Amino acid sequence: MRLSGVIGQPRAVAQLEAEAAAGRLAHAYMFVGPAGVGRGTLAQALFMALNCERPAEGMACGACGSCRRALAGGHEDLIVLAPPSQAASSQIKVEALREAIRATVFAPFGGGWRMILIRRAEHLNPASANALLKTLEEPPPKNILVLTVQDAQELLPTLVSRCRKVSLRPLAAELIAAELERRGEEPDAARLKAGLAAGSLGRALELDAEQMRAGLSAWLGHLSGQGQALEDWAFAEEQVGAFRGAAALDREGLCRALDLLALHFRDQAVRTAGREELALLPAGVGLDLEAACAGFGGVRRAQGEILANAAPELALVVMIERLRQGAEN
Ligand SMILES: [Zn+2]
Repeated sequence: MRLSGVIGQPRAVAQLEAEAAAGRLAHAYMFVGPAGVGRGTLAQALFMALNCERPAEGMACGACGSCRRALAGGHEDLIVLAPPSQAASSQIKVEALREAIRATVFAPFGGGWRMILIRRAEHLNPASANALLKTLEEPPPKNILVLTVQDAQELLPTLVSRCRKVSLRPLAAELIAAELERRGEEPDAARLKAGLAAGSLGRALELDAEQMRAGLSAWLGHLSGQGQALEDWAFAEEQVGAFRGAAALDREGLCRALDLLALHFRDQAVRTAGREELALLPAGVGLDLEAACAGFGGVRRAQGEILANAAPELALVVMIERLRQGAEN
């Protein structure tokens, strides 16, 4: 069996292929790695390879009935559970889990393998996790369970000990850029998004180049202004407000948005060093190296403060003040 369609995870793919070749696939796996690096894609590739009706050299054909249903997300033997929303408090409920477990009593409909894929398994609530334990221990034949999780430590140890671990890594920026281009993105936008995606293709795909340009130019416009305290405060409130949901402030989202401003300063720094090819944003005002480094450091410091639960508006106002001073010196 060989897996196809998984980008940039050669070790994870090699592990599963070797285990399959030795007839030693586990009945429960835990795919561990950051969001957006291909955990779901890997699970789908495994499912397709196990169920393809016309594999070529052990690889799923992508065209038979089983492959097409899997690709379209409607295969009767691929049961996918996930928390209902992106919110941190969103839980995978025990009823959904029990229903999936009940399905394992019957042989897989297609005569091949059934997979129960539990995405973002850190959102299993305690009742769901307990309901899962027995099935993880000994699933009925021809059933395979896959849990995807960012950090195994967020799962109950009793779950972890029953799953074989497959680790996935952040993707290289070049791989992400190439994949974005393959999907029709302009090369410059693809490089920019890849540079901001922290190794996650999923995150890169969520980025909107137009929105980023507008966001950055709002920041640079404000920083070049006169610096009335009230205006700074209003600008900071506006930036923070965009990440204040009904429940809580999305601090990580706010910090990711600031990555673009950090990148602006980083680009200025690499340009002063004559490394134009490393820059991801169009050439800007042309700061000297010292100001560019101070700017970069200032943004990173504010991000650290925001993640450490500082009042975000205050952190931004202080950062604005520091950045203006850096530009003057
Ligand atoms: Zn096929």
